[in-house]
Amino acid sequence: MTKQEIIEYLSGGDDTQLFRRSSQIRQSVHGSTTFLRGLIEFSNRCVCDCLYCGIRASNSKVERYDLTLEEVLCATQKAYQKGYRSVVLQAGEKRNSLNTHRVTEMVTKIKERYGKEFSITLSCGVQSHAVLKEWKEAGADRYLLRIESSSKELFKRIHPPEIDYTERCNAISTLKELGYITGSGMMIGLPWQTIENLADDLLWLQQREIDMCGMGPYVEHSDAPLSLHTSEYSNPERVALTLRCIALLRIMMPHINIASSTALGTLDAEARKRAIIIGANVMMPCMTPQRARGSYNLYEGKIFQNI
Ligand code: SAH
Repeated sequence: MTKQEIIEYLSGGDDTQLFRRSSQIRQSVHGSTTFLRGLIEFSNRCVCDCLYCGIRASNSKVERYDLTLEEVLCATQKAYQKGYRSVVLQAGEKRNSLNTHRVTEMVTKIKERYGKEFSITLSCGVQSHAVLKEWKEAGADRYLLRIESSSKELFKRIHPPEIDYTERCNAISTLKELGYITGSGMMIGLPWQTIENLADDLLWLQQREIDMCGMGPYVEHSDAPLSLHTSEYSNPERVALTLRCIALLRIMMPHINIASSTALGTLDAEARKRAIIIGANVMMPCMTPQRARGSYNLYEGKIFQNI
């Protein structure tokens, strides 16, 4: 797919043809199978101050929590009993030895209980080579680290100066080197984001040969400073763009895993299902215990995706 073709489809050039093509590939490569991964948001403490995110370090309105090891194991057990064979352990970013050790312990215990076949995805932000290696050796199979935007300029505008674009790209390369099944992705409908930016994001994911992708609409959070800048895309436009991105990526990378994101379900419950038909093959229903659910508010109105 050329950049020009991508731009045309993203602009709504021919949705009928795009979705027909992508659904056919989804069906012929993945059949009607959709993988379920139980999402356990084990901590909302974060050292980063991303301008779009509701749990950014400087948002003092958030009640901070850390799940105990027991709570994580209990949530995993619930997922297992429901028939899940995969969990995603997600949290705000922390870079200290206590955090490293806690994650190692969670991964080790889950693998001990449910065996090698039970897959663990981590989503714990940018970490050093040594930390990522330790978690891999403990048994983690997959890692999700979105680039958020592959445009250096846009990345800079939505992050504080200390969050470095190159460092994030390098971390994604490290994940691949260490043998993780590596996921990335971007937010769609950000202020200043152009259709060309999104086309470049899709090409970036393809060039990087990522194995999984989670991309969803950007949704404002009133306590995050990016909400002061108006996005030129309405919510329905962000939903439409997200569906087009999913369909395009399915055509560009037929074999990868693509998630139908919670953010998409938050803006439009029907679109979440539509995403599955036109290209996505992964859903990550929320398994975070009740006591913590309301505190992992990345954006306003976040739903607890159930199936
Ligand atoms: N600390 C981890 C997990 C971050 S939360 C990490 O850095 O990877 C997971 C994802 O939520 C982020 O990568 C981002 O793409 C998404 N997210 C955060 N704030 C958002 C918002 N306001 N709207 C939509 N998605 C958002």
